[in-house]
Amino acid sequence: MSLTRRSFGLAAVGGALLPALPAAAKAPPAGAQTAGVYRVKVGTVEVTVLNDGSGALPTKFFSGDPAGIPKLMEAAFVPGDMAPTTFNEWLINTGDKLVLVDTGYSTGAGPMAGKMPKALAAAGVDPAAIDAVVITHIHPDHCNGLLTLEKQVAFPNATIHVNADEFAWWIEGDVKTPDGKPFFKDLFAAGRAAFKPYVDAKKVQTFKDGTEFAPGVTAVVAPGHTMGHTMVRISSGKDQLLAWADIVHSTALQFPEPERSIAFDLDPPQAIATRKKVMDMVATDKLLIAGTHIGFPGVGHVAKASSGYAFVPVSWNANL
Ligand SMILES: [Zn+2]
Repeated sequence: MSLTRRSFGLAAVGGALLPALPAAAKAPPAGAQTAGVYRVKVGTVEVTVLNDGSGALPTKFFSGDPAGIPKLMEAAFVPGDMAPTTFNEWLINTGDKLVLVDTGYSTGAGPMAGKMPKALAAAGVDPAAIDAVVITHIHPDHCNGLLTLEKQVAFPNATIHVNADEFAWWIEGDVKTPDGKPFFKDLFAAGRAAFKPYVDAKKVQTFKDGTEFAPGVTAVVAPGHTMGHTMVRISSGKDQLLAWADIVHSTALQFPEPERSIAFDLDPPQAIATRKKVMDMVATDKLLIAGTHIGFPGVGHVAKASSGYAFVPVSWNANL
């Protein structure tokens, strides 16, 4: 029998006539998600995506014509005015070095985030075993997790790597609040608190475009969202993965319309130009990407579409 809209409707009506479920179910609902851990092999390198949580961003945070937003949200099957977003980090195991890219929110966002330490534990990794932490940019969802939920040093044996311009502006410079963006004050305070114990212990090292954190693990500076916003390219053999951090904050809005910036962008025109350049590059080169704010695990390809681009996620691969 083929399933038509009509037969599906009749089946649903038939279903309603079945006896109601007993009040006490056989097993209570779990009421929580399992830890977000997803592994992908890049040549001989193992990359583990760790999930810190997920939430939603008001669509009014995005620039461009507001009248165009409802149709983009409908097309992504998320109607309404809150665009889903996610917080992913990456643990790179080269075989002799463990490099963590970003640390999650820690206590900075209430119950929606701060789950990265549990994901790391579920992945079987002791934070003390991590050699290097690369911070893609000094925003709380990326660097607050330098401190544990109890506000202690989370990675006692790691060197912390951050772009030199990023560090100079957020940590060393005067607290500047760009016009109309008062929330930047909070970002300064959070970033400085997260870095302080590592700065005091002289464990912070600044980098520039092209710096190699481990063999095949390289900084690719992509400014605009912040002045030193950095992607991390992982290369091994003929395989590559570009962990592009905050090139996209909303899959629903910014793949089809990359010209929409987000209110947190320090330099919106530059952020838009960078996004367009990176999307064109990864679509043309068929490069595998991973995004902080793309639904977990947020690993996939970018395809050119009739309007802008489309994200094509990888499917679960049970065999590494
Ligand atoms: Zn972010």
